[in-house]
Amino acid sequence: MSGSLLIRNARVDGRLCEIRIEAGVIVEIGTGLRGQMPMLDAKGGALLPGLIDHHIHLLATAAEANSLTVNTDTDFAAALRERDHTLAPDLDLRVTGYHDSFHGPLDAARLDALVSGRRVRVQYRTGSLWVLNSKALAVALRDGDIPDCVERNADGVPTGRIWRGDEWLRSRFSASPPSLAAIGRALARQGVTHVTDASASTSDETAALFASAMARNDLRQHLMLMSAYPLSRPANAPWRLGPVKILLDDHALPPLETVMEIVADARRQKRCVAVHCVTAGELAMALAGFDAMGSQPGDRIEHGGIITSEAVAEIKRLDLTVVTQPGFIAERGDHYLREVEPSDHVNLYRCASLIAAGIKTGGSTDAPYTRPDIWAAIAAAIHRTTADGKVLGAGECLSPPRALALFQTDLADPGGTPRRIAVGAPADLALLRDSFDAILVNGFAEPVVATVVAGNIVWGEDRLG
Ligand SMILES: [Zn+2]
Repeated sequence: MSGSLLIRNARVDGRLCEIRIEAGVIVEIGTGLRGQMPMLDAKGGALLPGLIDHHIHLLATAAEANSLTVNTDTDFAAALRERDHTLAPDLDLRVTGYHDSFHGPLDAARLDALVSGRRVRVQYRTGSLWVLNSKALAVALRDGDIPDCVERNADGVPTGRIWRGDEWLRSRFSASPPSLAAIGRALARQGVTHVTDASASTSDETAALFASAMARNDLRQHLMLMSAYPLSRPANAPWRLGPVKILLDDHALPPLETVMEIVADARRQKRCVAVHCVTAGELAMALAGFDAMGSQPGDRIEHGGIITSEAVAEIKRLDLTVVTQPGFIAERGDHYLREVEPSDHVNLYRCASLIAAGIKTGGSTDAPYTRPDIWAAIAAAIHRTTADGKVLGAGECLSPPRALALFQTDLADPGGTPRRIAVGAPADLALLRDSFDAILVNGFAEPVVATVVAGNIVWGEDRLG
C-alpha cells in the first residue's frame, strides 16, 4: 500500500487536470505532472471527494445478505415456508423487514404454525422488535433467566417477542459474525470512502472485529464507531471513536433523568451524543435532554423522522446536527402517505427546510433499514419520489449539488463544510464515469468507475495504467 497515485484526465470542479498523490495525500494538481507511480486514466470523468455514509449498521447489513427479506408485497407465510424448504436443515432461518400493518401481528405461536422444525427469528423493519419461534425461544432462554427485553403475557409466559434485545440475542445465538468483505466491496463500488457505524450495541469485541476486517482489507473505508457503552480505543486502532448512541423508543421512553445521566456520562468520555429520534415523542425527549444538559458541537439527532416546525426552531437553538435518510421517503413513502397523519406529512424526513434554518444536515442510508445504496439516497434527496411515483414533501427536495454535499463532509461533521479536492487534502476520492451533470441526466446506475481511499485504489483497479 504505497498510497501514491497519478490521476490523469480528471474533471475537478469542471476543469480537466492531473492529480499527484503521495502517501495518501494530494500533493499537486495541475497539467503535465510526472511521477514514478501507478497511473489512473479518468478519461474525462468527474473526480469527487469520496462519499460518506454518516449512519449505517455494517454487521446487520452484512447479515441481511444471508436473510430472507420481506417487504410490503411479500406473502409472509408463503415466503417463510419456501425458504424453510430450501435452506440447509442445520441453519437458522432469519427474516428481516417484517411489519404488522402488512403481515399481521406476530408471536411465537403464529411462527410455530408456519415453521416449527428449525429456529426462526423475525426482525421488524423498525429494528426494535424480534419475534422468535418456540424452538429459537427455548435456545435463547436455556439458562432459565428471562431478561426484561423478553415480553410476557398476563400469565408470565414469554410471547416470543423481544424488544430492543439485539445484544442479548447475539449473546444467545453464537453464530460467527458475517464477513464484511461483500459490504466493503459494495460500498467501494459506490464511491464510499468513509462510514459511521451507528450501532448502539458496538462493544470492544465488535470494534476488534472491525479492526481485523480492516487489516484484512475486507473493509477499506475509513470508519467511525458509535456505541451506547464506553469503548476503549487501542492507540493503533484504525477506527475513530464517534458519539455515544442513545436509542429512544416511543414504546418505552426512559425518564428524562436517565437521558441526562447518559449525556453526562458521554461528556465524561469526551464524546458527543447521537440520539435515535424517529417519532415526535422521541425527538421531544432528546431535545429536553439536550436542553437540560447543554449541547455541544457534534451532538446529533439521528433520522429526524418527524420534525415539527417548533422542533426545527429548537434544534437550531440547541445547535444540533440532524443526520437524515432520504431513502426512507423513496422506499417507505407510500406507506407513510397511508399511515402517517396527513398533518404530519410536511414533517417527514425534512431536509431543505433544515438546511434553510441553518441546521447542519448530513445524509446516510441507515442500511440495512434502507438499501445500502448511497446513490439511491442521493436521488431520493433530489426527487423524494415514492415507489408509486408520488412526491412526498416537494418543498424538502434539494438541488443535485446540495444532495451530493449531504454525503461529502467530514465523518465527525455531518452537514458541515463539504470536503474539497485540494492540495494537502487526504486522497479519498470517487471517480465518476462522466461529468456529474451528464450522470444526472442519464441516471445514477453504477456512476462510479474508481474509488480511492488514502491514495489506494479500492475499486476500479482495471483503470490502472
Ligand atoms: Zn440506524
